[in-house]
Amino acid sequence: MPAHYPFALPPLPYPYDAFVHDIDRVTMQIHHDRFFAGYVDNLNRILAPWPQYHDWSLRSLLLRWSELPPEIQQPVRNSAGGVYNHEFYFMSMARPNTTQPDQKLQGAIDRSFGSMESCLQALRSTALSQFGSGYAWLSSDTGGNLHINKTANQDAPVPLYPLLNIDLWEHAYFLTYQNRRDTYIDHFLPLLNWNAASAQYAALLQNQPPYPCP
Ligand code: MN
Repeated sequence: MPAHYPFALPPLPYPYDAFVHDIDRVTMQIHHDRFFAGYVDNLNRILAPWPQYHDWSLRSLLLRWSELPPEIQQPVRNSAGGVYNHEFYFMSMARPNTTQPDQKLQGAIDRSFGSMESCLQALRSTALSQFGSGYAWLSSDTGGNLHINKTANQDAPVPLYPLLNIDLWEHAYFLTYQNRRDTYIDHFLPLLNWNAASAQYAALLQNQPPYPCP
């Protein structure tokens, strides 16, 4: 993902059917190739006539959207959020139970939540409590303290630094799970990519974002 305009759709880092027991192939394909791609295209189209913002990063657009011209504030907020949030979402998945936090992230999980089990329970209940479209997030502040929260629509948890998220929009699960968001969440939690979250956390602690995400 380029650091600023023009943004580009990152390739899906695994096959469409990589997690087919939990996320069906058609959902994965439409989610990445149409929804994620659509947010990238929309953001570039909105920003094209405004060269003074072409060096703004995704995080800057999300943190400072209220400084933009009024007519593009909400469209940029929605589209930049759609790009930022989906970049984390597709990074947040790995084959079930194949990843684990490194020592530093595990230590932070223990400090913040007591245990991985409690962390997952908090993530699950936060995801279940989101009314309507949005995301559940595990994020870190610049002090390395972890936070679980939810955001509506395409809002991101900035100024916190995300480590991973769960997309709670119906397009993420409806084909397989229909209205059963709780079943989708239960299938998603074992997919969480703790290796990627650890890399993100390590980069943050070394004050070296963005890696692997903005
Ligand atoms: Mn989505």
